[in-house]
Amino acid sequence: MSEKKELQVAALENGTVIDHIPSDKVFTVVSLLDLQHMSTNITIGNNLESKKLGKKGIIKIADRFFTDEEISRLSVVAPNVKLNIIHNYEVVEKKEVVMPDELKGIVKCNNPKCITNNEPMQTWFHVTDKAQGILKCHYCEKEQRKDNIKLI
Ligand SMILES: [Zn+2]
Repeated sequence: MSEKKELQVAALENGTVIDHIPSDKVFTVVSLLDLQHMSTNITIGNNLESKKLGKKGIIKIADRFFTDEEISRLSVVAPNVKLNIIHNYEVVEKKEVVMPDELKGIVKCNNPKCITNNEPMQTWFHVTDKAQGILKCHYCEKEQRKDNIKLI
């Protein structure tokens, strides 16, 4: 690990560091994890240099650990993010985002006639192809690709 990189993740006693977020997705990640409603200490860095991504964002959240379900929400917008779980200033676990089998209440169905666009209800998608990122609406069965989805 380079010195520069170490500095970027330093100073968190306990909590979660979300790294390698594409710069244009940082605020989407904030909203998917509902960070704007948390009262813990949150540091957001954006447009940091990254060899892999060009520019990247990083979010440090003190005293908060996420469930696999919460983390899997990120798969539709930022599939390559890495999470570092910090205890007592040390990385005790690294997690990667995994595409889940189902997505509930995250993605909008792009079929205007779909019941989820006409009734106050949660959307529900089955991930039919994880490699290609193909989602199928549980209600109207319309398929959509991960790259042109709309988030709720
Ligand atoms: Zn639908």
